[in-house]
Amino acid sequence: MKILILGGGFGGIYTLKYLGKFLNKNEVILVNDNEYFLFTPLLIDFVCGFVSEEAVRVYFKEISKSLRFKFISGKVNKIDLNKKLVYVNQEEINYEILVICLGAEVNYYNIIGKENCWSLKRLDSALKLKNHIFEIFEKEKYKENFDEFLTFVIVGGGATGVELVGNLSDLFFRIMKNKISKKVLERIRIILVEGKNEILTQFSEKMRKAALLKLKEKGIKLILGKIVTEVGENFVKLGDEIIYTRTTIWTAGIKANLPEIIGDFLKDNSGRLLVNENLQLLKSNSEAYNDVFCLGDIACFLENQRQLSQSAQVATKQAKVLAFNIKNLNNKKTFKYKHSGDIISLGFYYAVAQIFNIFISGFFVSLLKRFIYLVKMISFPHKIKILENLISFLFFKRVL
Ligand SMILES: Cc1cc2nc3c(=O)[nH]c(=O)nc-3n(C[C@H](O)[C@H](O)[C@H](O)COP(=O)(O)OP(=O)(O)OC[C@H]3O[C@@H](n4cnc5c(N)ncnc54)[C@H](O)[C@@H]3O)c2cc1C
Repeated sequence: MKILILGGGFGGIYTLKYLGKFLNKNEVILVNDNEYFLFTPLLIDFVCGFVSEEAVRVYFKEISKSLRFKFISGKVNKIDLNKKLVYVNQEEINYEILVICLGAEVNYYNIIGKENCWSLKRLDSALKLKNHIFEIFEKEKYKENFDEFLTFVIVGGGATGVELVGNLSDLFFRIMKNKISKKVLERIRIILVEGKNEILTQFSEKMRKAALLKLKEKGIKLILGKIVTEVGENFVKLGDEIIYTRTTIWTAGIKANLPEIIGDFLKDNSGRLLVNENLQLLKSNSEAYNDVFCLGDIACFLENQRQLSQSAQVATKQAKVLAFNIKNLNNKKTFKYKHSGDIISLGFYYAVAQIFNIFISGFFVSLLKRFIYLVKMISFPHKIKILENLISFLFFKRVL
């Protein structure tokens, strides 16, 4: 059987992992537009210099032998469901089983000046952001204009935005505080903008309250219930209000990474591909393709009429059932999502969590979160790298 997997993120790599020995007897091809798997949950730690680029990026060539797949580097431009062909660069690839897990990209909702935003969905954008932040201090760029260079505006009060402001605060006020003059430190402002009246709306009330308290304690300015209307090179506008900044970081939304698709299929309002209970792509007559599966951020799986969150937790759990279903095409399992819990880190030294309905918080929760990353990282040498980085940061405050 020829299995073609589009996208080597959490959905794709975990599908390969769970296919296991089945891969020995079948041909498996993975297509991805860059050459590595990116461990996104550690991207904020990467931007803040707590872990290195090598720790968060796993080249496919390093794991293709152990996970038994052939890797093709290229962009998926088109999928023809009728002809069972996928177009990658200028080439056609046929399949017997297709797995679509191309993830999502940043959604700027047509905001004016989106090109002036920084983002951290991909490694290249996260790297640019990291260099930008560190250069402000290393090259003393703030001397050009204190307010613009020392004001950091993060748009989006979801998990990524909240974790980012918390970690940036630790970077500036705990890690870099001996290297930056008091005068400069006093002028740093971190602002979190959220269109709704609350942050972390997807999380439990206890988590929301504890996070809010911690952010206030850290001196982070919260602007709630206001929408960003324009972003310029040195400003961000919230209606009539204008904030001068060289760093507007957009974490306010994502949209499915859909290539052109020929054939009959269903998608939801936000462009996510609708799947049935076995994670197979649905047609407009509500029947499903027997040979096309979707998972992760690009898939819309409805549970009790509600969409699941777009998270690595969901993608990896779907991968387990999806791999089983590929191995047992005539005896498929229904996907039932069991949430393991949530952890939000509000810096390197504090996190809040709701695990099996129990609320916990503190430094050890932050360590627990990083320990879970170690367990979830797909390659053993990378687990070691992450561990080394975190230990050297924790004990020697080594910023990478
Ligand atoms: C900063 C950050 C922190 C996060 N933290 C957490 C967390 O702590 N916990 C959690 O559960 N989730 C977290 N997430 C969400 C998580 O990363 C995603 O939900 C998860 O990666 C989804 O898996 P996926 O396989 O659907 O997509 P992805 O992992 O994004 O993989 C998609 C892959 O497809 C490739 N691709 C895209 N388009 C094309 C194309 N046209 N052709 C070829 N290849 C293509 C991409 O390069 C990528 O490798 C975080 C996300 C970010 C950005």
